[in-house]
Amino acid sequence: MGQTTGVRFEAVFLDNNLPDDERIDRLIYWCHRFDKLGLAPKSAGNLSFRTKKGFIITATAVALRDAEKENLVEIVRVEVNEAGARVHVRGKVVPSKESVLHSGIYALRQGVNTVFHIHDQLVVELADELSLPCTEGEQPRGSYELVEEVNRVLRLNKDADYLVLRNHGIISMGETLDEAGRLVESTNKMAREIRQKGGGE
Ligand SMILES: [Zn+2]
Repeated sequence: MGQTTGVRFEAVFLDNNLPDDERIDRLIYWCHRFDKLGLAPKSAGNLSFRTKKGFIITATAVALRDAEKENLVEIVRVEVNEAGARVHVRGKVVPSKESVLHSGIYALRQGVNTVFHIHDQLVVELADELSLPCTEGEQPRGSYELVEEVNRVLRLNKDADYLVLRNHGIISMGETLDEAGRLVESTNKMAREIRQKGGGE
C-alpha cells in the first residue's frame, strides 16, 4: 500500500433503517461510561459489536456522550483499495472512519464480538510500563497502514485482547460488550496505580 494519508472514506447507504439488536443499549451504556470516566477526551472514540451480517458501530463526528440508537449504523461490507475505503451501511449517519480497523479485527479474530477504541491517555503514556502489546511508530488515524500494523501486532500476540496504538489510543476486545468494557476499566486502574506510585514519570 502506498501513502494513504488523507484517506478517502466513502459510505454507501443500502437503506436508512436504524440497526436493531438487543445489545444496542449496552453499547450506548459503554459510550456514555467512557465519556464520564474521562477515558475519551473530547468524547472521541468508536465502539462496535459483531452482528450476523457485519457489525454495528458508532458514527463519525458524534461525541460518545451523544451516542444513541439514531446515530448507530450497521456495516455489512467493507472494501479497501489503494485509494481508500468504501463501506456499505444500513442506517442514517456516516460510520466511524476507523470502521476498517474494526472490520480487520473481526476478520482476524473469530472469537471477538466487540471492539472498543478510545483514547485512554494515561494507558497510552504508560504502555511500556504496563507491558501491553503496542503498535510500532504512529500511523495516520483512519489509514490502511494503521489497520495493517494492528493486524501485525494481533498476529504476534494471539492471546492479547487489549493493545495500544502508539501515541494515539487503545483497542479493547471481548466476546461480549461487558468483557471489553471491563477490560478498559481494569487496565486504566492499573495505569492509575502505577502513576500513583510515581511510575512512568
Ligand atoms: Zn482514535
